[in-house]
Amino acid sequence: MEVTASPAIVGRFAPSPTGRLHTGSLVAAVGSYLMAKRAGGSWLLRIDDLDAPRQVAGMADDLMRTLESFGLLWDGEVAYQSRNGDHYRQAFERLLDNGLLYPCGCSRKEIALAASAPHPDDDCIPYPGSCRGGMKAGCVVRSWRIRVPEAEVCFRDLRLGEICQDLALVCGDFAVRRGDADYLYQLAVVVDDRLAGVNQVVRGDDLLSSTPRQVYLQRMLGLPQPEYCHLPLVSGPGGSKLSKRDNLVSEQLGNLKGQEGQLLLAVLRFLGQNPPAELSGAGCRAILEWGVAGFDAARIPERGGELPV
Ligand code: GLU
Repeated sequence: MEVTASPAIVGRFAPSPTGRLHTGSLVAAVGSYLMAKRAGGSWLLRIDDLDAPRQVAGMADDLMRTLESFGLLWDGEVAYQSRNGDHYRQAFERLLDNGLLYPCGCSRKEIALAASAPHPDDDCIPYPGSCRGGMKAGCVVRSWRIRVPEAEVCFRDLRLGEICQDLALVCGDFAVRRGDADYLYQLAVVVDDRLAGVNQVVRGDDLLSSTPRQVYLQRMLGLPQPEYCHLPLVSGPGGSKLSKRDNLVSEQLGNLKGQEGQLLLAVLRFLGQNPPAELSGAGCRAILEWGVAGFDAARIPERGGELPV
């Protein structure tokens, strides 16, 4: 009997250096780490520094030090989006050659939003296709958009099952590049993951609605599709939304060192795992080792909620 080895899992965590790590991102970091390591795979770190105006100086280092303090050690070199420009350009040209792109003279605001990963508090107005048939005379090119298909785009999420989206209803022809030169989040993330050989994307539910756009781009670029798992979101009391400031990991830990283990155990419980009582008081490495040996993705709950520390 011929046995075909399945490829090794390559997972990743891809924070944007726009602020310090918050508990929602910590959940994504721990979830992606444990799912990759549980499968005997590797776990990569990429700094999503495409959206220059929103970046805060020193935050990439701060994120890395915070991950290290939890024992979340990545494999290999850190990748930076800002170094992948040539690859974005090649992908862009391929889409252009295939007649999928067109220049658009509309809406500065929408293009600005497209630079970074859209989260639920960002506006999303489906683009009505005004420039699909050509720009109005005298307009400047503000973005390049991709024609979305008429059929729904579907993919299987490891936790949520089959997800289908009609891109025309959700976002319309979306921007992949600014008029000047900069490439935008949806295109960049697809190229970045492919470049690094990422075949498992585990991240928060807030990016679920972006995934069909990314799957569509993968198909149009002839790229393999990673497996996806979107994790429940951390919320405040009664499901209220947390602002980026009020759930910072650094604040949860206070100034007291040595509480990382407690927070890590809380994240494991949040992800539906059941760490034994002996682990309370243990160091992060021991807790992560337990997680690597026994992480069960089937136990991740359907709904998020508070992170009880
Ligand atoms: N950098 C993105 C963010 O912080 C995440 C990108 C991704 O996971 O695809 O929201």
